[in-house]
Amino acid sequence: MPELVLKKARFLIVDDEASNVRLLERLLELAKAGYVVSTTDPRRVISMLLSEKPDIVLLDLHMPFVDGFTLLSQIKTALPLGEYLPILVLTADVTPQTRQRALEKGAHDFLTKPLDSDEVLLRIRNLLETRFLHLELQRQNEALERQVKERTGQLEDTLVRLKAAQEQLVKQERLRALGMMASGIAHDFNNALTMVLGYGELLSGFFKNEVPAREREQFQHLMEAAEDASHVVARLRDFYRPAEQDELRVPVDVNIAIQQAIVLTAPRWRDKSRAKGIQIQVETNLAKLPSFLGHAPEVREILTNLIFNAVDAMPEGGVLRFTTSSEDGCIVIRVSDTGVGMTEEESSRCLEPFYTTKGDRGTGLGLAAVYGFVQRYGGSVVVESRKWNGTTFTLTLPSSTVKNVPVEPPGNLSVPSLRVLVVDDQEIIRQVIVEMLQAEGHQAVPVESAQEVLRQLALSTWDLVISDQSMPGMTGAQLAAEMRVRGSTVPLIVLTGFGDEMRTKGGTPQGADLLISKPVTANTLKKAIATVLKR
Ligand code: ADP
Ligand code: MG
Repeated sequence: MPELVLKKARFLIVDDEASNVRLLERLLELAKAGYVVSTTDPRRVISMLLSEKPDIVLLDLHMPFVDGFTLLSQIKTALPLGEYLPILVLTADVTPQTRQRALEKGAHDFLTKPLDSDEVLLRIRNLLETRFLHLELQRQNEALERQVKERTGQLEDTLVRLKAAQEQLVKQERLRALGMMASGIAHDFNNALTMVLGYGELLSGFFKNEVPAREREQFQHLMEAAEDASHVVARLRDFYRPAEQDELRVPVDVNIAIQQAIVLTAPRWRDKSRAKGIQIQVETNLAKLPSFLGHAPEVREILTNLIFNAVDAMPEGGVLRFTTSSEDGCIVIRVSDTGVGMTEEESSRCLEPFYTTKGDRGTGLGLAAVYGFVQRYGGSVVVESRKWNGTTFTLTLPSSTVKNVPVEPPGNLSVPSLRVLVVDDQEIIRQVIVEMLQAEGHQAVPVESAQEVLRQLALSTWDLVISDQSMPGMTGAQLAAEMRVRGSTVPLIVLTGFGDEMRTKGGTPQGADLLISKPVTANTLKKAIATVLKR
């Protein structure tokens, strides 16, 4: 007798006669059966199936309350689909009909009493062997299914990754091609525009008074248009210009650049939004960073582009968040907004030059500049956006552009040409303007009040004053008037924010040479200086 199957099996005996139960228990005990439970109450069978988990049921047929036939049906429905639980019917009823009916109802085998103990054990063994084979098969099936599922999952993962990599590659190639095309076009246009502007200058020299005013004005428009076009071309060329070998890069504190960009763009995100009755909240979470070797004005310009886009994306207000971190030797800058977000199509194309969803209000060059910038430094930009669910731009500047050196105070390297006094009550603003001027080779000195300007003007010679309009004590306009009263002929440029009342009244304040509005870029500043010095 192979006891092993009996030993590891669990038995449930169901018979209303306690003596029958005992007989079977004794039999199983002698055969060293594993685990035996029994009941004389057939109503307990279904719950015992669940609690005892038998491998075989020894079932009597004629019992009070629930007879064996009914139990057979109940067991069948109670078992999970596909489970093979052998049921051996043991009964004193020897009629062929009973036998047939029991087998029909799902009994697996049938023995009549009085029982021959050897036969009982042999039948039990056979049934149990089938049961265990069945279980083993089920286990193997499940394992196989798990494996297939796992493999399918892995394959799907790989496919998704592959697809993403492919898309990224295609996108990069497209951007590269567009960039090359743009810089090629820019180059050709530049040559054409140089001719137009050059001959235009020559012609305008001849015109003087021989040409009627109307035609002169038309010609002027023509020249202005060409001038504008040349600016666009210059920007384009700038984006995709390759990094030059001997480019002078200085350590830049990215966190400070972020703070400056925030302050410089405040007229747009704070004042203008406030005027419309909405609120844009700016949050920063800036980690300690190594220095970035590059150009501070460039970094600020890139950030300004991102800020303007975020503001455009939050017409109802929202949160604009800056996060920096230093990861694996790289500097990571995250700019995120809670704005309208982008569709998949939009976010996959937004870095392309001239791609805009803003119609005439957009140029589609802001993000192209961002992309050109990170490319030039060998970094990357990742766009994460969902329609109506905000946008995050992640800029990674590679470790090759990152150095653990302190930021040098700007200037000193450059050739001094103009001596400029810069006044603004906000330190960060006067600092950024001083920096821009120093980058252009000027000697710029920051001061914090108009009174101090007047004092400095009296002390030594200066070539230019650049002043904020809204300052406590004395405004830019008041400074202009006071300078002229004191007989100073030093040119004066006044900077105004959006909220300044002067804009609405219009016009440059008396005594000032030029009024320009914030945010000030290196370019507008350069142009403004050229304009006032020409006069
Ligand atoms: P522009 O701002 O002139 O349209 P950009 O190159 O700066 O050009 O941006 C291109 C396009 O990318 C935008 O027109 C806009 O559709 C989308 N975009 C850029 N930034 C965001 C943002 N923060 N949220 C939603 N959409 C954005
Ligand atoms: Mg933009």
